[in-house]
Amino acid sequence: MKCPPLENLLEHARGLLAETENATVSNHLLAGCVRCEENLRWLGEVRQLTSQDRSFDIPESAIQGMVAWFKSQPSHARQPLRKLIASLSFDSLMNRQVAFVRSETAAAQPPNGRQMLFQTEGYDIDLRFEGIEDKPLEDLIGQILPNSQLHQTVSGVTVQLWQNEQEKSSAQADSLGVFRFAQIPSGIYDLKIQTAEDEINLLKVSTARAA
Ligand SMILES: [Zn+2]
Repeated sequence: MKCPPLENLLEHARGLLAETENATVSNHLLAGCVRCEENLRWLGEVRQLTSQDRSFDIPESAIQGMVAWFKSQPSHARQPLRKLIASLSFDSLMNRQVAFVRSETAAAQPPNGRQMLFQTEGYDIDLRFEGIEDKPLEDLIGQILPNSQLHQTVSGVTVQLWQNEQEKSSAQADSLGVFRFAQIPSGIYDLKIQTAEDEINLLKVSTARAA
């Protein structure tokens, strides 16, 4: 669901929003939008400060000014979340399969690892699956690499592992954009990477030993 404008959040907090709009904001907050919750908390602090401080009366225009300033800050700027679909640009397994086909002596040994590179506007995403001996489990190590000046930090970005429309697991990228999922069942997954500006989707990603 799209985030309501900051003005509506403020009016909602002050109980001044019209009924229909108010319901929209309430539902959005109930859905658990972290960004709006944080904005609401921040706006609440401003309201409390302005109501407690009797040394001078802060006029409505000043509050609106603060809201405008807040909105102009890059990390809080209200902009539509871009939904990006990353495309596969390299797959080690694909290359290996081609090699198998070409070589008559190739053993039927299933490959244990798989390395893939996905690309989308602004980001490269590296994935490496490593099969765990004798188990239908694999480790996934990935790295999100911003490839433009616009997206310099991916530290703390959330990566979700989805399967059959259900979230199976989630991890956080470290300061280098590296994330890990340990011992996930071999299979096909969707990866959802949630940055401040974008939602990057890696769809139908097969692990190294997916059937
Ligand atoms: Zn929101």
